[in-house]
Amino acid sequence: NKQVVLTEYVTGFPKESHLAVRNGGKIQLKAPQGSVLVKNLYLSCDPYMRGRMSPPKAGGDPNFASFTPGSPIQGFGVGKVVDSGVAEFKSGDFVWGVTSWEEYSIISNTKTLFKITNTEDVPLSYYTGLLGVMVVGMPGVTAYFGFHDVCAPKKGEYVFVSAASGAVGQLVGQFAKLAGCYVVGSAGSKQKVELLKSKFGFDEAFNYKEENDLDAALKRYRYFPEGIDIYFENVGGKMLDAVLSNIRVHGRIAVCGMISQYNLEHHEGVHNLAAMIYKRVRMQGFVSFDYFARYSELLDDVVPYVKEGKIAYVEDVAEGLENGPAALVGLFSGRNVGKQVVAVAHE
Ligand code: NDP
Repeated sequence: NKQVVLTEYVTGFPKESHLAVRNGGKIQLKAPQGSVLVKNLYLSCDPYMRGRMSPPKAGGDPNFASFTPGSPIQGFGVGKVVDSGVAEFKSGDFVWGVTSWEEYSIISNTKTLFKITNTEDVPLSYYTGLLGVMVVGMPGVTAYFGFHDVCAPKKGEYVFVSAASGAVGQLVGQFAKLAGCYVVGSAGSKQKVELLKSKFGFDEAFNYKEENDLDAALKRYRYFPEGIDIYFENVGGKMLDAVLSNIRVHGRIAVCGMISQYNLEHHEGVHNLAAMIYKRVRMQGFVSFDYFARYSELLDDVVPYVKEGKIAYVEDVAEGLENGPAALVGLFSGRNVGKQVVAVAHE
């Protein structure tokens, strides 16, 4: 049973050598009573997993407990039931939920495992991203509720999205266009900027790595000199500062993530926070699992758009568990183009 294990706890930027692919021994083909044996097909790579690679912290959230060095790492994935010791699942079922990074997993906590009933309309791997629900890393719920609930958009408003070509960002941009907003995105390469404009329908996009002055970069966009109404925050740091100096009165900032800060031992300060006072800005953090109970709203609204080709969804699929470490670590250098998935097997 091939596995990806954490070799040692990480401080600073994660490297491929913090993860190792090893043979975890013979595959057990029978599920013990109360457990399900799953063949893992697709594994989701999510930025929050970086936090679980750090040493344990006292008082940390148990949902994001540190991984154990020498053991397989865990995350969300899609799999096929091989054998079941519980009534809710039978062999042959497709499922998604919390699993381990290995070829076969015995899952004893079946509360975090869900049957995939719609295997016809969308590719199975989408359940790691677009249609996933169960954890912070599940981009569809994050983008959908983060944008609609936290940002409360109105038609015609001006929206800015950072890390815009990624799993969450690409969806936020498209939801914003569907809501009738003007949307600008930033991303870290020419290829990603092209994708934002040609595939995801952003009105404008720029490569933040080529800008010395982010404040001036934002002012370049057609309506932004009037101010940004909504900022969907994925990166933090200097970008947040630049947005704060360009935000409009009564602007909203949905703080989804701050990936530029995750690997820093001392987080960067934000200088323009006072803008929140005189601009009456509302800035709100949120976590996708706040919205689990409303998952069916996402399915009802978004699956038809996907079927009609009105929402594009780009995945970056790494083939084989051996490419898993590079795929996960690559999130922090922007190697991924779209939602990063690891395909362990295709069926
Ligand atoms: P992505 O698919 O966007 O992958 C991460 C991307 O972040 C990279 O491709 C890279 O793109 C960008 N990036 C990496 N390092 C930096 C940096 N130093 N500065 C600026 N950009 C950087 O990941 P997700 O869509 O899954 O996640 C996006 C954000 O949303 C993250 O902050 C994540 O933690 C957060 N999140 C929050 C959730 C919640 O419930 N609140 C749930 C899911 C995600 P580029 O080439 O553009 O730099």
